[in-house]
Amino acid sequence: MEMNFDSMWKDLEPVGHHESTGGYRRYAWTAEDTMLGEWFEAEAAARGMDRMRDRAGNQWAWWGDPDAAVAAGRPGVVVGSHLDSVPDGGPFDGPLGVIAAFAAIDLLRAEHAAPSRPIGVARFVDEEGARFGVACVGSRLLTGSLAPDLARALLDEDGVSMAEAMSLAGIAARSVGADREAMRRVGCFLELHIEQGRALIDTEHQVAVASSIWSHGRWRLEIEGEANHAGTTRLQDRRDPMLVLADVTQAARRSAASHGCLATIGRVRVRPNAVNAIPARVDAWLDARAPAEHEVRVVAAEVATAGNTTAVEESFTPATHFSANLRDRIIKTLGDVPSLETGAGHDSGILAAAGIPTALLFVRNPTGVSHSPREYAEREDCLAGIRALATVIRDLASE
Ligand SMILES: [Zn+2]
Repeated sequence: MEMNFDSMWKDLEPVGHHESTGGYRRYAWTAEDTMLGEWFEAEAAARGMDRMRDRAGNQWAWWGDPDAAVAAGRPGVVVGSHLDSVPDGGPFDGPLGVIAAFAAIDLLRAEHAAPSRPIGVARFVDEEGARFGVACVGSRLLTGSLAPDLARALLDEDGVSMAEAMSLAGIAARSVGADREAMRRVGCFLELHIEQGRALIDTEHQVAVASSIWSHGRWRLEIEGEANHAGTTRLQDRRDPMLVLADVTQAARRSAASHGCLATIGRVRVRPNAVNAIPARVDAWLDARAPAEHEVRVVAAEVATAGNTTAVEESFTPATHFSANLRDRIIKTLGDVPSLETGAGHDSGILAAAGIPTALLFVRNPTGVSHSPREYAEREDCLAGIRALATVIRDLASE
């Protein structure tokens, strides 16, 4: 198992890697994404697993016959995650979960395990939403929580629609949508993911299990200004949207602190974006997260009010609570495993919200940093995560 683990990392290492930043740029429906898909196909084929694409473009590999299992009323145990990245992200967020799924199967096979349910590996497409601005597109389309028309019409920075991008990548964009047949094959879902905070640092725990995902919203703040010459326009005559941007950024911090939430303005678009011009307009993206929906909306409203701007909602996800039964069972199987809340969204959260018994496991991250090249997990901790995953699969697939 260890050797396969190392070689899978090595094969993925160069895909979308940028020397200048040390980060990864693996965006949906690009050449890099195609390479990731080919890697998945090859790993599945090397294990003699059946490969499928669902109507949302997600990839599946099966050990055992998933449809026979559905007919017998014993649908499969599915393990997986995503392979795409945020701009200049780290190597672990996503790929660890897919590599771990294959490695856990290798471990089970090395032990001559004979699972009585099929075991699937899923690779969800476009989890980070780096290119089209909406997260978890693959799992949302699959479960029906994102309307196909909305997805198809999303535009990237260059004005390319998701429909065009998917077609270029060989996906039939016209028939994209919810896939009940693919969903029926999933008896339960497990995702192993790098920890994206500092909860496991300085503990003896290499692995944890998630209890819930905070509510999460994204808004675009539209800040209008008036373009003019930086060298000739008197200060009192200016309508400078950058000043409003400063106000809303400060307001996001204040509002989040006062409501016990997190809020970030991490992306801005400045027009015309010239060093010697007062901008005509700034668009700024607000990301707000909190244990409950209400607080997220309050933060967005307060930020918009502070800037006297319009906040256009681009996505909103209620809090997700993972199956308590499944979590209890995992804790019983694995022994002493801490339970954590997280503010980060995951495909497992989308599946949980769609009613599939779902669990999210974390591997310790000694930097506590994620969505950055500094994101890290020790090899030993990854291997402990894989062993934990294999133990849980063995238990769930035995009944
Ligand atoms: Zn992730």
